[in-house]
Amino acid sequence: MRYISTRGQAPALNFEDVLLAGLATDGGLYVPENLPRFTQEEIASWAGLPYHELAFNVMRPFVAGSISDADFRRILEETYAVFEHQAVAPLRQLGANEWVLELFHGPTLAFKDFALQLLGRLLDHFLIKRGERVVIMGATSGDTGSAAIEGCKHCENVDIFILHPHNRVSEVQRRQMTTIMGDNIHNIAIDGNFDDCQEMVKDSFADQGFLKGTRLVAVNSINWARIMAQIVYYFHAALQLGGPARSMAFSVPTGNFGDIFAGYLARNMGLPISQLIVATNRNDILHRFMGGNQYDKDTLHASLSPSMDIMVSSNFERLLFDMHGRNGLRIAELMATFKSTGKLKVEQERWTDTRKLFDSLAVDDETTCATIAEVFNECGELLDPHTAIGVRAARECRRSMSLPMITLGTAHPVKFPDAVLKADVGEAPHLPAHLSDLFERQERFTVLANELKAVQSFVAEHGNRGKPL
Ligand SMILES: *Cc1c(COP(=O)(O)O)cnc(C)c1O
Repeated sequence: MRYISTRGQAPALNFEDVLLAGLATDGGLYVPENLPRFTQEEIASWAGLPYHELAFNVMRPFVAGSISDADFRRILEETYAVFEHQAVAPLRQLGANEWVLELFHGPTLAFKDFALQLLGRLLDHFLIKRGERVVIMGATSGDTGSAAIEGCKHCENVDIFILHPHNRVSEVQRRQMTTIMGDNIHNIAIDGNFDDCQEMVKDSFADQGFLKGTRLVAVNSINWARIMAQIVYYFHAALQLGGPARSMAFSVPTGNFGDIFAGYLARNMGLPISQLIVATNRNDILHRFMGGNQYDKDTLHASLSPSMDIMVSSNFERLLFDMHGRNGLRIAELMATFKSTGKLKVEQERWTDTRKLFDSLAVDDETTCATIAEVFNECGELLDPHTAIGVRAARECRRSMSLPMITLGTAHPVKFPDAVLKADVGEAPHLPAHLSDLFERQERFTVLANELKAVQSFVAEHGNRGKPL
């Protein structure tokens, strides 16, 4: 399988190189040159397979030519064995034809484990083969950091540096990062906000001299491998509810448009999905696009669903690429305009066409809490605020009551106790057994000033299993 850039000017790469590349050299994002397509019979024949075997069937075409079947199978089996639930991604019924796909049974209790557990193992596989070491740098407002650290903690050839804003992530989220020990794990608390952290990571990718030749790898959702891993659970959910013989709808709490883009790909690969709902919080740039063809940059609003607090959606460019007949030069133009004006609009017929599949809703904090309470009172299910936004959007945008409606349950409620407490249902979420001693565990992190030089020197001095690069 070859991968091409959404801006049409970078060389095509194979899977291994895309995994290590991050952004394409023309500033675009990598996408498969040809999407694999499965027949209904093929998909139907996967019913009842264990999660890792289904994952092998769905993802095999994407890695073809880069990794042997035997190695890929072994890596997938290891990856999904760390999940605490037998079904890996169980479905829970909320109401008539209404479901939540629980994606929070991994080590860090959010859906990001599905991709980052795999990404860490794939990186290690290729790096050992190449005899190469890399450095990962990432900024996090919460979920990505812990999932990336958990995914990479056993990697022999990876040092990982995760920047979080000092005193501005929840205690559960901080402890999930800072209590994982290893000489290749480096948590940095920056005296600044999340944007400062993200800016420093971006600047480090733009000028890598401080790394003395060591390659820098991205673990945010611009990395294709993350999207790829998320396609699998759409198949997994559909197969349990009568698919592919009947179609279904998905509602996806979204920020960077990664998770929902994976659903869009699942559909284009042959899975009958009749509706995809974009569910956002007050940071609603995607909702404004779906609702009125206005993809305009706004200011950042802090919400009770912090993992979706974004101003622009990095993966949206991947959808734009398809909307424009995969014309990379057109996307380069559009993105240049967006960069200079902060606004983007597409031709009316392209937008109308997109709306045949996508609907959207933006949900404020108050409605988020009301939905947590509503669902708890109906069926005793305690939702996290991101999932609650998904359920609200599912209920308001649903086109057909006779098709299954599946909301992606993106996080465990214990990660976001503030929203759950505000919902005031008389019940607090509890840590699952494997994390029950989280508050007693020893923490390790370094506080650094909000200065690029300070961070880059720290990376250079510790980037080789705690020793200088
Ligand atoms: C990351 C995250 C999201 C948003 O995912 P995208 O792929 O950016 O759309 C939603 N909910 C939770 C809990 C998350 O951690």
